[in-house]
Amino acid sequence: MQRRFIRTATLAALFLFAVSAFGAPITLRVDATEAPRKIYHAELNIPATPGPLTLFYPKWIPGEHAPTGPVTDLAGLRFSAGGQTLVWKRDSVELFAFHLTVPQGASSVDVKLDFLSTPDAGGFSSAASATSELAILSWNQLVLYPRGKASDDVEVAAELRLPQDWKFGTALPVARTSGNSVQFKPVSLTTLVDSPVLAGRHFRRIELSPGATPAHYLDIAADSDEALNAPPDLVEKYGKLIREAGALFGARHYREYHFLLALSDQIAHFGLEHHESSDDQAREDYLTNPTSTIVGATLLPHEYVHSWNGKYRRPEGLATRDFEEPMKGDLLWVYEGLTEYLGWVLAARSGLVSPQLSREFIALTAANLDHRAGREWRPLSDTAVAAQLLYEARNDWESLRRGVDFYEEGALIWLEADTIIRKQTQGQKSLDDFCRVFHGAPGGGPQVKPYTFESVTEALNGIAAYDWKGFFDARLNRAGTDRGPLGGVEAGGYRVAYVDELSEAQRSTEQVRQNFSASYSIGLRLNPDGVIIDVLPEMAAARAGIGPGMRVTSVNDRKYSIDVLREEIRNAKSGGPLELIVANGKSFSTYKLDYHDGERYAVLQPNGQPTLIDDILKPLTK
Ligand SMILES: [Zn+2]
Repeated sequence: MQRRFIRTATLAALFLFAVSAFGAPITLRVDATEAPRKIYHAELNIPATPGPLTLFYPKWIPGEHAPTGPVTDLAGLRFSAGGQTLVWKRDSVELFAFHLTVPQGASSVDVKLDFLSTPDAGGFSSAASATSELAILSWNQLVLYPRGKASDDVEVAAELRLPQDWKFGTALPVARTSGNSVQFKPVSLTTLVDSPVLAGRHFRRIELSPGATPAHYLDIAADSDEALNAPPDLVEKYGKLIREAGALFGARHYREYHFLLALSDQIAHFGLEHHESSDDQAREDYLTNPTSTIVGATLLPHEYVHSWNGKYRRPEGLATRDFEEPMKGDLLWVYEGLTEYLGWVLAARSGLVSPQLSREFIALTAANLDHRAGREWRPLSDTAVAAQLLYEARNDWESLRRGVDFYEEGALIWLEADTIIRKQTQGQKSLDDFCRVFHGAPGGGPQVKPYTFESVTEALNGIAAYDWKGFFDARLNRAGTDRGPLGGVEAGGYRVAYVDELSEAQRSTEQVRQNFSASYSIGLRLNPDGVIIDVLPEMAAARAGIGPGMRVTSVNDRKYSIDVLREEIRNAKSGGPLELIVANGKSFSTYKLDYHDGERYAVLQPNGQPTLIDDILKPLTK
């Protein structure tokens, strides 16, 4: 703990005295002109002294909470010094480390490398991120640094060459541009890796807080010009998001902020947070199709919240000194869970999601976790500790395995915490007050202020005295709780109810994600072809013997479609049969489901208590 706090002070000091604290910088020249054919080239000059040298390729990627550095896609590695080729050897245990010997008389090593950018959309920043029209450049993919050096203590001067006529956005300070080349100001390796570049042929920059300091930009690159046409009222809501976040936290921890929004159907869809920007990747019609906009509405709020919760305030185990030290995810229910909660809240307060739709999305989350079969064996805290495994876990048997539940279940727990503070203080205080104390002043440039579990409960106790340790312990560390944490929904004035009509939230999500749920009736999630994504172990389909990976081909002798399945679930309510023919590899079997309760879709209904959830979702600003 001591070391972390010393580091924070060092980092702040470096900020004031910028360049002078470093020796000669690493120079990094990246050629991204071939990004459309999915290959980048880089040349580095790394200061070194004669003798053994080990260079390291970033392995543990901030925000991904896992050793996801794409080392398999590192190719064309060549080392030399003074024009003399150097022999290199990969470490046989730590495969991200490369050993070489710097010859006498040399003061630096020259490195050439290629990065092979995959077209495959599975994964995060190392997944598909370049198309014929745009590219998102993550510097960690193109850099080596002396092993063992803290990333705060390594300085890098980067230069980037882009395809002709492409524009770019980034939080990385620019020294100068010339033609299609950009020279960036020297920064620490920490800041470099924290500052991706979004570039593209179809590019638009929108100022979200005109005239205000710090400045906020929505930088958009898309696969087409049409996709840049965000409706003016949507842009107004993003502007309100900036104001609402300011009102929530009371201070900002960036010099300027860039939402780097890439819109394409050829890239991975996810968000990755940074101090002064976020890498936001979505469908090409994200801004122009209202259904897409709604389903992805929390993407920007979530990633933006991370500038405070995740980047500025970071769990001790995730505030690592370099890209080799393993990350510990035990507090991810704060890092991601609270961010998920505040992302919902800010999406509603800024008008990106209506209160009605917000309640519908909360209902979907609550119902999902309330039916998680894996609660029987796996405490929520274990999903956080095992995050680096669970991000990559398959969808089949997800209910039994549990996934990265610390996001959504974490959000429900923070909702409950919010209602407790409001009740304990007779409405005088709320979780907003916690955020101002924990994440707020003093503002300024990026810095990291690590925390522990005790720091969280202490800050909460400063707002409202309560047994917070016991509260979290009961929700985080116990297995065998067969129901989800719905205390916040109930104290918030609602209960999860099941009705026979799809909510707009579920309908929109299914339309965009092409993932259909009959989870709370017969216990199946399916894709459009009838392939079963997951079964809920205690429900009718699983009890009849159906499992993930099988494919429903017909329902009561009618060819499968999700509409046919839902219609037959309705018909079975009056006592009729529900017979599914299901393919399991090459064999077909008939399964008779004992189910007559009709369709069941989750919604929130008022429970007669004061509707605190509605108060929480109200904007703080005009
Ligand atoms: Zn997140």
